[in-house]
Amino acid sequence: MLTKQHSTNNHCSGQLLAHNTKSENITVPEFRDAFVAKFGAVHGKTLGEATDREKFHVLATLTREIVSQNLIKTHQQRATDDPKQVYYLSIEFLLGRLLENNLVNLGIRDICAEALSQLGIELGVLLGVEEDAGLGNGGLGRLAACYLDSMAAMGLAGHGCGLRYRYGLFEQKIMGGYQHEYPDNWLKDRAYVWEYRRPDEKLPIRFGGTVRVQTNGKTRFIHENYERIIAVPYDVPIVGYKNEIVNTLRLWSAEVDVSRHICSAPGADCNNVIGYKHGIESLTDLLYPDDSQYEGKLLRLKQQYFLVSASLQSIVRSFLLHHGNVSELPDKIAIHINDTHPALAVPELMRILIDDCDLGWEEAWDITVRTMSYTNHTILPEALEKWPIDMIKRLLPRIHMIICEINERTCRELWERYPGDWNRIRSMAVISDGQVHMAHLAIAGSHSVNGVAEIHTEILKKSVMNNFYTYAPGKFTNVTNGITHRRWLLTANPLLANLISDAIGSNWVEYPCELAQLAPLVKDNSFLEGLANVKRYNKLKLAQYIKANYNVIVDVNSIFDSHIKRIHAYKRQCLNVMHIMDLYNRLRDNPNLDVQPRTFIFGGKAAPGYYKAKKTIKLINTLADKINNDKSINDRLKVLFLENYNVSQAELIIPASDVSEQISTASREASGTGNMKFMMNGAVTIGTLDGANIEIRNFAGADNIFIFGLSAEEVLGYYRYGGYNPWDVYHNDSRVRTVIEQLVNGFFPVGPDEFRTHYDAFLHHGDEYFLLKDFASYVDAQSHLADTYQDQRRWQQMCLMNIAHSGWFSSDRTFSQYAADIWEMDQPIPLW
Ligand SMILES: *Cc1c(COP(=O)(O)O)cnc(C)c1O
Repeated sequence: MLTKQHSTNNHCSGQLLAHNTKSENITVPEFRDAFVAKFGAVHGKTLGEATDREKFHVLATLTREIVSQNLIKTHQQRATDDPKQVYYLSIEFLLGRLLENNLVNLGIRDICAEALSQLGIELGVLLGVEEDAGLGNGGLGRLAACYLDSMAAMGLAGHGCGLRYRYGLFEQKIMGGYQHEYPDNWLKDRAYVWEYRRPDEKLPIRFGGTVRVQTNGKTRFIHENYERIIAVPYDVPIVGYKNEIVNTLRLWSAEVDVSRHICSAPGADCNNVIGYKHGIESLTDLLYPDDSQYEGKLLRLKQQYFLVSASLQSIVRSFLLHHGNVSELPDKIAIHINDTHPALAVPELMRILIDDCDLGWEEAWDITVRTMSYTNHTILPEALEKWPIDMIKRLLPRIHMIICEINERTCRELWERYPGDWNRIRSMAVISDGQVHMAHLAIAGSHSVNGVAEIHTEILKKSVMNNFYTYAPGKFTNVTNGITHRRWLLTANPLLANLISDAIGSNWVEYPCELAQLAPLVKDNSFLEGLANVKRYNKLKLAQYIKANYNVIVDVNSIFDSHIKRIHAYKRQCLNVMHIMDLYNRLRDNPNLDVQPRTFIFGGKAAPGYYKAKKTIKLINTLADKINNDKSINDRLKVLFLENYNVSQAELIIPASDVSEQISTASREASGTGNMKFMMNGAVTIGTLDGANIEIRNFAGADNIFIFGLSAEEVLGYYRYGGYNPWDVYHNDSRVRTVIEQLVNGFFPVGPDEFRTHYDAFLHHGDEYFLLKDFASYVDAQSHLADTYQDQRRWQQMCLMNIAHSGWFSSDRTFSQYAADIWEMDQPIPLW
């Protein structure tokens, strides 16, 4: 058993539904009566007086009770079977809403909808009340959430370890075209309905202080005068798909150590106990809203260690509860480091093994390396995490000693292999230039390092991590990212899911590769028509949302062209803007131009300190205002920026999109996962040969995707050898010239410097992301796309081929690769 199973939340009045061993066997009347009874018990009033929020809360509580039963069963089963367990450490988990997914995974969504409807309640309304758990910035956090879903669905013992941020990623509001950031107060006034707070499993985390070395007899390291912060776990249940399995995501929260006299704590001020308490607990207040740039805050380092130390102490504790000998750890436990943020897991496990379990260095190191594995998520140089060694020394003195020892030993090994090659050794050292290189630490301490798409892994091997690859080629492997088809297709697009199941049966839900059985339907006109109808319905729903929230009327016959993801220069939202500007210019020059009507949809948050990305948001909104209000173009173009992009919004936009914009500068996007969600929902990709787009092209077929632009090799060649001058493009292409000048010549009703940063980046700073260079080829691909759309049959065939070959991008596939190749899980994994 991993954790003690007693709920401390007091939701449970009576044992409603307890006699149902399998949730799918619950009947509509049972569910309906249980809901009414539970409502009265919880709120002390009748349904007639209830708010939607109260109804949501009761429905979630009822669902949680069923989940609790399965959680208990899962733990009992695991205690008997003792399977290998994997712990996925991540500073982000972007879960989104859970109620609908839990209902679907329990197999009771339809029963529940019917029961509620008998009470005059619409399930959809209640689902909309739930706050997104937005404990992540973007792709990295969403990936972690998809893996949790797959692990539970496949019945394996896999758990997430993260932080319970009081505030998730900020809430974005657009005012005057600009992004404003508001705290994402997702917990509001009550506890998160899904979580189990487990104060009895709290653990102390130590910061600062000094280390005394005791050498009488055995050498001991005694950490003293430290600040002690308590980590309290909250478990969020992760519900498997119709298999009664429930895994957990354990989120740690910082609390003051009430067992001690607060005044006696180092740093405490007896005159300001409340302030001291707030200071401590603020450690887990905030998710840093920055997904790629180096964040130099001490607090962030503190968060990283807090996550790692609490998780590892808890993992080792539960391991030792059932296994006598810590040397068996790698056989029973796999610990995965998701990007470098949890890389301190390496020295922390060493600390526990040496200081707490009395192992010698060599044995501890062997156990650590065999237990740990690491995924790299980016090659953006600014995102390669480094921490000043002095900061680590001050904040984590014992960890500092261990990192120094790891550094010395790895350098010594390198010296044996490359005697005298100081440059190479320095480039691979864990510590250099006074900084700890977190990626180097993670590589040194792991038996496996993987990239997240074929091209990304190749770039790691060939350039970014070439020295490490040459030294230990066997360590490196690729695992292309995936997404859970249960959330992104089955739940988010029920009409498409039904259409598919009507055609090929519902086995694909369990074995998503069976979606390939759709391929022969490419000549089946009635199926193609069905696809078109589903898309049309989803577009209608999105159009209604847009009308209600933005008061813009969009034409459902227009192409819905979506570019939704974090706003970043490398993702090139501006290239999309340039194409729209060019299209608009052509339409104004020639009002009779035959253009396919288009609705361009943008969404995404910019890091609050990222000036240029915030200006990009302003640019999109300024363009939208101009185009949406220009009567002369007859509503043929519309541009929308949907505010506060998050998982729930993605679930609305993606099923309604015809076109998926995946236009990052080649080589910069490690994999992308948005691209997979669109593919699975029958949107056609326009994109560069970057990240997983390449694999999407290989699966869907080159005829079913619009590829343009420089290749990664060409881009890397320019970065290395130079040879690109944006002025050449500017002088040779009048359309580019017009668009670029329109940024600063009064075309937009803004000051002349509003978009100066962009103008300068393109012309005076070398156009680092090759927008001008790729412009012509992008515009060509766009017009080819628009022509193709006119042939609706051909278009639906393209959509179909994308859906049919999207099964491989299910995170079930990704996860089974991790489980078999990296974590060496001992349960049989379904073959792919
Ligand atoms: C999938 C997803 C992402 C990642 O999108 P990319 O296009 O891969 O960058 C980011 N945010 C949310 C809310 C998502 O659902």
